[in-house]
Amino acid sequence: MGKVTGFLEIERRERKYTPVAERVTHFNEFVVPLSEKDTRDQAARCMNCGIPYCHGTGAVTPGAPGCPVNNQIPDFNDLVYQGNWEEASRNLHSTNNFPEFTGRICPAPCEASCTLNIDDNPVTIKTIECAIVDRAWENGWVRPEIAPHKTGKRVAVVGSGPAGLACAQQLARAGHDVHVFEKYAKAGGLLRYGIPDFKMEKTIIDRRVVQMEAEGVTFHYGTHVGGSAQGNGVTAIDPHEMLNDFDVLALTGGAEAPRDLPIPGRELSGIHYAMDFLPQQNKRVSSEPPGDAADILATAKHVVVIGGGDTGSDCIGTSFRQSAKSVTQLEIMAAPPEQENKGLTWPNWPLKMRTSSSQAEGAKREFAVLTQKFTGDNGQVKKLHCVKVDDKFKPLPGTEFDLDAELVLLAMGFVHPVHEGLLKTLGVELDQRGNVRANLTDYQTSRPNVFSAGDMRRGQSLVVWAIREGRLCARSIDQFLMGTTNLPR
Ligand SMILES: Cc1cc2nc3c(=O)[nH]c(=O)nc-3n(C[C@H](O)[C@H](O)[C@H](O)COP(=O)(O)OP(=O)(O)OC[C@H]3O[C@@H](n4cnc5c(N)ncnc54)[C@H](O)[C@@H]3O)c2cc1C
Ligand code: SF4
Repeated sequence: MGKVTGFLEIERRERKYTPVAERVTHFNEFVVPLSEKDTRDQAARCMNCGIPYCHGTGAVTPGAPGCPVNNQIPDFNDLVYQGNWEEASRNLHSTNNFPEFTGRICPAPCEASCTLNIDDNPVTIKTIECAIVDRAWENGWVRPEIAPHKTGKRVAVVGSGPAGLACAQQLARAGHDVHVFEKYAKAGGLLRYGIPDFKMEKTIIDRRVVQMEAEGVTFHYGTHVGGSAQGNGVTAIDPHEMLNDFDVLALTGGAEAPRDLPIPGRELSGIHYAMDFLPQQNKRVSSEPPGDAADILATAKHVVVIGGGDTGSDCIGTSFRQSAKSVTQLEIMAAPPEQENKGLTWPNWPLKMRTSSSQAEGAKREFAVLTQKFTGDNGQVKKLHCVKVDDKFKPLPGTEFDLDAELVLLAMGFVHPVHEGLLKTLGVELDQRGNVRANLTDYQTSRPNVFSAGDMRRGQSLVVWAIREGRLCARSIDQFLMGTTNLPR
């Protein structure tokens, strides 16, 4: 374990952010890593609990305690405390293909379930994870793991988000010939085009792609499986043809159908889905051609973001960096409690008030608000007409109010994967929520040689769950192809 009395002697210390006034002037990451000594001190706080809830219970539902990829947290904490960073990296990579993604953007359910969180001082697990993997890259410890034998089996992975990348990497390491098909120009899915650079710079994805190519994965960009050719160099492929060319298809296309707000005035210009706005800025940062759509910019505008989750926060941070005049975020749910009741919630993920780094940059937040209509001038949105609601979302008479808005960003989540094209053409069954039906034992869809993982199977979720599902899906595919598997969970 870490230091036996570490948790008694050492205060929890987190990474800091650079000041707001400075960080909103650019799109780079702004988290300041701890020094090596401070990171080792933080690892020394780990108590190596008899039941380490941090490490996860192997449960499969969102909200289950601990780490969804079952990172061996007490073990790597001890290795970091001892200064054995290289072994810590080996340990971390044994359960997580991409700890540099989760070390940056995971909400860290591990910390919520840490025993020291009972009095609000969990081990800084995410900070330690990120320090291990960043150090591993700096020291050249992350190398391609090339399969010693090839199986001759061919697998097509549709979609290059974290689920597809994890699935492809595991399958290549098992010796299969893996091809990833991605409709966009680069790999990463929402990590590349949704999550802004200030949360995760995209070179972090690029270097993993280089590693995976060295491991034998072939990436086919600008290839829309089941789609129609759209110009801009995008090629369409019929998934039935792929079933002839490949032994197995893995569907990891994410949950891309956004939730709409069909109220009066929705047709006005200036009202956009978050995922029309965010990818444009990510492409600007990486000098990727913007595509045909007109620029959507928050510059000098009153911006209203509807939706209180990660996507909403990313719209806020991006709007501030584009010099918005003001940013207001509306959430239909009532404000959660400032402090959870640990006796009722620990070690589960608690519902409580959280303030993201983007919200802390100056967003005004309104809770229990329903938007009833948009109005505008000359076809351009100018105002939102809102009302406060009770806990059953029923409008409270007399609480109506208006908000100025020249840009409205809809960030209310995603309902399910896109059904047209890929899924309808293949005819795979859907579950009652409209996601691809495949169970958590074998990730197999209603077609035996078609598997599915990540948001396309579970609905909108988290990067860490996508990685877990990609790994387990790869294991199941390997078992299906070879009759046995040595791939780890
Ligand atoms: C704005 C935003 C911010 C987020 N922030 C966080 C966060 O901070 N932390 C966190 O843990 N989670 C966050 N999430 C959620 C997280 O990004 C997703 O849960 C995760 O990326 C899902 O991974 P995936 O691989 O299943 O799908 P995706 O990342 O959606 O990747 C799917 C890929 O498949 C491709 N594709 C789809 N259909 C086809 C087709 N027919 N042919 C070819 N390619 C296809 C898509 O282009 C895409 O590249 C955020 C989500 C959004 C939208
Ligand atoms: S729950 Fe916290 S203190 Fe216990 S083993 Fe995990 S990280 Fe260490």
